[in-house]
Amino acid sequence: MSSKTKTCTHCGETKPLDAFKRRLTKRQSCALLHRSSISCGITVESVRCKTCWHMTKSKKPLTKKQIRNKMNSGDLKWVMGNIMLKELNETIPQKRSRVMKLEWQKRKTGWIKTLNDNLQQQVVKYKNRYHAYRASLNKLSKSSGENSLQDKQHAKQHAMLEQHRWNYEQAKQIKKRLMDRAKSGEKVEVDVQIVMYFRKGGA
Ligand SMILES: [Zn+2]
Repeated sequence: MSSKTKTCTHCGETKPLDAFKRRLTKRQSCALLHRSSISCGITVESVRCKTCWHMTKSKKPLTKKQIRNKMNSGDLKWVMGNIMLKELNETIPQKRSRVMKLEWQKRKTGWIKTLNDNLQQQVVKYKNRYHAYRASLNKLSKSSGENSLQDKQHAKQHAMLEQHRWNYEQAKQIKKRLMDRAKSGEKVEVDVQIVMYFRKGGA
């Protein structure tokens, strides 16, 4: 049995001898035998199995010109060459449109970032307003006395504070909603104003 199998120097697998036999092209055969012409390609036994050989054979895609040259020199069968040419003719326009799609994707990503920056800026504005108002109330309450006029004012101020808090909460939610919509492919104006989406109600 050992004479009929061989171990590949590349992947280390032991396979039947047939897996190592490789039919050379006419050009390769001529080069190997140092002859100027040959009637048909010779078969050699490689140290690597067919799988490994095919994997390392070619890393660069062939151009149409290279395919035609290989067809003419006999390195590539006409049937195979024609199939490759036909496929290339069909996939080159597809590839071009893929490049355009990528370009569009890139532009879209830029657009989404602009939108996000704009919305984030507004959210921060509402956050700052809420925090600033809360801080100013804390100062006031320390100096406040005990009469009904001040109580009324306190009630107003607390309603206002509640409104600022609500606005900030809403702004965060609106931003999230708009970003979700934009990311799912919906067109959202990059300079959209969060306030346009505010609902009047309080918490
Ligand atoms: Zn191998």
